[in-house]
Amino acid sequence: MSELRNGKVRDPESLRGRQVAAATARQIEISQSLSEFDWIPRPRLLALRRLGIETAEDLLTHFPRRHEDRYQFPHFPREESDVPICLCGDVVKTSMRRFGGWKKIFEATLEESSPNALSEPLVCRWFNLHYVQKMIATGQRMVVFGKPRLRGKRICVDHPEFEVIENDEEISIHFRRITPIYPATEGLSQRALRSIIYRLLNEISDEPLDTLVPSGLVHGERYDAIRAIHFPESWEARDAAREHLVLSEFFAMQMLIASRRSDASIRVGRAHCGAGVLLDKFLSALPFELTGAQSKVIAELRRDLAAPHPMNRLLQGDVGSGKTVVAMTAMLLAVEAGYQAAFMAPTQILAEQHYAVLGRWLEPLGVRMALRTAARQEESGPLPLFERGEMNLGSTGCQPVVSGSLPDTSADADKQGYRRRNLPHFERPWAKYAITFTTRSHRQLSTEARDIVLESLLRWKDRRYELYGACVMPDHVHFLIEPMIERDGDCGNPIFFPVSKILHSIKSFTANRINKIENSNEPVWETESFDRLIRSESDLQEKFNYISRKPWDAGVVGSDQDYQWLWYPGRYKAQEFAASCREQQAGSLCSPDRVLPPREPQIIVGTHALLYENVSFSNLGLVVIDEQHKFGVAQRARLTAREPAPDVLVMTATPIPRTLTMTIYGDLDVSIIDEMPRNRGKIVTAVRDQSKLGEVLSFLRTQLEAGRQLYVIYPLIDESEKLDVKAASAEYELWRERLHPYRCELLHGRIPAAEKQEIMERFRRGKTTALISTTVIEVGIDVPNASVMLVENSERFGLAQLHQLRGRIGRGEHKSYCIFLTSDHSKETSAKLTVLEKTSNGFEVAEADWDLRGPGDLLGTAQSGLPALKIGNLKSDAGLMRRARAAAMSIFGADPRLELPENQRFRRLVVEQQGRTFSNVS
Ligand code: ADP
Ligand code: MG
Repeated sequence: MSELRNGKVRDPESLRGRQVAAATARQIEISQSLSEFDWIPRPRLLALRRLGIETAEDLLTHFPRRHEDRYQFPHFPREESDVPICLCGDVVKTSMRRFGGWKKIFEATLEESSPNALSEPLVCRWFNLHYVQKMIATGQRMVVFGKPRLRGKRICVDHPEFEVIENDEEISIHFRRITPIYPATEGLSQRALRSIIYRLLNEISDEPLDTLVPSGLVHGERYDAIRAIHFPESWEARDAAREHLVLSEFFAMQMLIASRRSDASIRVGRAHCGAGVLLDKFLSALPFELTGAQSKVIAELRRDLAAPHPMNRLLQGDVGSGKTVVAMTAMLLAVEAGYQAAFMAPTQILAEQHYAVLGRWLEPLGVRMALRTAARQEESGPLPLFERGEMNLGSTGCQPVVSGSLPDTSADADKQGYRRRNLPHFERPWAKYAITFTTRSHRQLSTEARDIVLESLLRWKDRRYELYGACVMPDHVHFLIEPMIERDGDCGNPIFFPVSKILHSIKSFTANRINKIENSNEPVWETESFDRLIRSESDLQEKFNYISRKPWDAGVVGSDQDYQWLWYPGRYKAQEFAASCREQQAGSLCSPDRVLPPREPQIIVGTHALLYENVSFSNLGLVVIDEQHKFGVAQRARLTAREPAPDVLVMTATPIPRTLTMTIYGDLDVSIIDEMPRNRGKIVTAVRDQSKLGEVLSFLRTQLEAGRQLYVIYPLIDESEKLDVKAASAEYELWRERLHPYRCELLHGRIPAAEKQEIMERFRRGKTTALISTTVIEVGIDVPNASVMLVENSERFGLAQLHQLRGRIGRGEHKSYCIFLTSDHSKETSAKLTVLEKTSNGFEVAEADWDLRGPGDLLGTAQSGLPALKIGNLKSDAGLMRRARAAAMSIFGADPRLELPENQRFRRLVVEQQGRTFSNVS
């Protein structure tokens, strides 16, 4: 009986008023695969699969892209229109014409079905689309959608969307209604897709489409909204349905964000705030007054530092707005309270600059500093002799889940198998690999040999790679790793340990030792090995399961036995290994409350090296991350996932539209510096045509004569290409002549870091007048006397990037000039460059950038580890996002761990959302 479900009779109430079809429907689960419906033909199934639609739910949430009013069609237009319109007419003529040799135009002439005296025919044209010709014939009636254009005397629509009206029994699905139009796919016509969805909606009962949204947030039921978004009875109904669905979608997203935020805030933290004596000394030594915005933010930071729960704050402020000073005040407060502070910058150059600037200000106050980049290590005191700190990642990015690497040898831990929490947040660009290598001619590894292999895998763990799982079988080895950063590249970008190098070390190291104990000199390993890049979270999970079950699946041990040479986080194969770990660690485990021993650095400045090298903090209280957008959520977590949690301040000079902040940075508290220091000279921005270079040059010379310095920036498509180095050098020669006798230097990504450093230093000291450079001139480079910038081929840069570049100037008291050269006269380019002429406010630039990019671009949601949106629009639905956010925050505010019985249903939602985030990045 269809009403019987899960052994209970459905409430007759809920059936009342539903369509008859629904009442008699078989019970369909929304998770049911579409392949179980015999009425969907196989080719359609395949086409749906290409869209990623596998289940009933996928299909029901494949939302229309737009709707057409097919109750009533307007008369054929007699003028052009920029707004596409939907028309209905009869095909009176078709023709195929050739042009340009083999190219073809297919034309279909339509007449209105009930023409009046003024009616004009409409010509639909398709260029080189052979299949259209097969679909359209004289005498058919069709609906077209497109922009009418005047071509000669005729009104034409080129490449309209169209649908032929067939007089079949399904006519009521496709016409005489507000009709849904879906994102198109090959091999699946609108009609076919619409019919399938229509039928599915009729077959499915309402029950599985439960709403997981607090009732205060949305009106009505999810199933009504789903029905109405596909086949609305009116435009109002469509809008209401859309609002319902967008709110639910946003609510789910905000619940994920709120849960991350809540996970972070319920971590054990500490107050890291000194009395402020040091801070006062620092402030009174500053040669300038803080801006109001700076003081406001410092007060916010101070409050957060003094609170026992961990701070998670984002500081947004334009280039040059004085974020570094603000960060310094926070670090001083932490230092004064007896803690260490880490300052992480995205590149070598920036780290060194910060190190120099911070040193200049803070060392006179007696603060001990150290620099840690892959290339250089410097400090004002001796190195702290600590082994690596433990930095394990939690699934939510902020929780230390496997606390420390101290082994958990309890029996339970051995049985746990895959737990998501053991594995890291899956995020690029930190690639993960599953690696397998085998013994030569099935040589069997003795138990001692297997010990050696496992120990060697663990030996480089946390030095060259992170290890997620390893299994040493009698004749082969599986392991799962994420290589770490070996060093900073020339551009300051991290270079990872190559898998080949990692493997080579393991193989040769173990082969030697195995042969030694076995008194042999036969080769131990096959030369070949297999490594596979892990592409997604599910891939990772699958590999992990495979590895952790291997000994039992392969039958090398009985199901009730343990296998010693299997390792994954939280499990240790042998007591003695655990013991040796403990020993190794002893040095780095210290009570957080301990006062720093004298001579240990109090502020450590560095690059990614801070994350990966054997840098350890004995007493980390505050982490400052500059240029947040260059690091992912996972990297941030790597530095901050320790107990007790340090306070975290991330800074960005890339403002994002305010409405996006609550999503992309939704798990952080946000501070904003929206005011520039008063002593700044104005920046004049001008866009000039390439042909005006002569005039521009003479202007530049007047500036150089006045003692100013100049940046010339030119775009390189790919910094790594040798060709471009040549181009850069040619460019450089040209500029040397143009600017003679002023001294120029060339700076680009392929110049070794040390040399780059010297070039920057000479420029900073005024020994060089002009720097001819690619975009390696980093965000945050600070040379106040460099007040002129010329950007060549500026159309090649993005709006945000141009704004960032411009931020290199305007840092001193001189009036600054930024000139964008371009030879591109397109609408897009001039729109882009005009924005910069009009405003120098980063937030305004960000808004404009967002407008110009159009609604399709989700601007970084993928990096932020949030699920992709199916229906909502971050820009046009900002108001709904605000409501959804408030609802989610209030749930977590009252119940941070979702423990209340009425909140249990939301747990599932958060878990599902968490799962969906991975499909984005893989
Ligand atoms: P950001 O990191 O936000 O780009 P910085 O912190 O590097 O900016 O500051 C840019 C320059 O402005 C530095 O030379 C700094 O000393 C100076 N500065 C910071 N705050 C002020 C202020 N309130 N008044 C004048 N100069 C300031
Ligand atoms: Mg800065």
